[in-house]
Amino acid sequence: MINFHVLTLFPEMVLNALNTSIIGRAVSNNIITLCATDIRDFSENKHLRVDDYPYGGGAGMVMQPGPVYKAYEHALSYMKSAPRVIYLTPQGKTFDQNMAREFALSGDLIFLCGHYEGIDERVLEEIVTDNVSIGDYVLTGGELAAMVMIDAISRMVPGVLSNDESGEFETFHDNLLEYPQYTRPEEFHGRKVPAVLLSGHHANIEKWRRQQSLLRTKKARPDLFARVKLSDEDNEFLKS
Ligand code: SAM
Repeated sequence: MINFHVLTLFPEMVLNALNTSIIGRAVSNNIITLCATDIRDFSENKHLRVDDYPYGGGAGMVMQPGPVYKAYEHALSYMKSAPRVIYLTPQGKTFDQNMAREFALSGDLIFLCGHYEGIDERVLEEIVTDNVSIGDYVLTGGELAAMVMIDAISRMVPGVLSNDESGEFETFHDNLLEYPQYTRPEEFHGRKVPAVLLSGHHANIEKWRRQQSLLRTKKARPDLFARVKLSDEDNEFLKS
């Protein structure tokens, strides 16, 4: 069981998107919980503003610390254990599958989404435990990044994927990209499904899949390939 709580100016964006498909099913089955708190509900201003001009000048607006802190306290009241608080920021450590696996072991996770130029540094210093980026580009807000993380983390929580959807041997397992997949029909636009997959010979199919994974990873992701533990048989195949 894992509890996700998102602090955001756009709760409906997060809830609408995540309450569908596999993640939505996991919420309905009480395997994960998903809440969102609107930071604007904690505005300290009669116009419900939560941002102000940056001290020192410069472009854009900065989210004020007070509403963010109060939204955090509100989220805490829902949590049973001390949560990790993840600030989505392009300045954070880049999110990857290993991080998804590690976060999936947590009980409670709070995601803090910035907007505009970001959030006043003082509240970040006070509440954030992890700074995470989803890649080297700048988004308008942290919501899409939080959704990406919640989706990837949820898939690692036991019971979220059915046996048919198992994430055990897919891309990034053992630093390999997954082999190509095929389904019916046997021929599409003149392209045939590789004969080995129709053979019913499981050992040969496994061997072919391993070889395809090795070739794909070597070509597309030499950085990952450098970390693959190669067997004697793999080395033999790659030399051929
Ligand atoms: N001024 C900030 C900077 O240069 O570091 C960027 C602010 S960005 C326009 C607004 C918000 O989007 C950030 O506070 C963060 O929550 C989110 N964000 C933008 N890019 C992101 C990324 N690559 N990964 C995670 N969150 C991101």
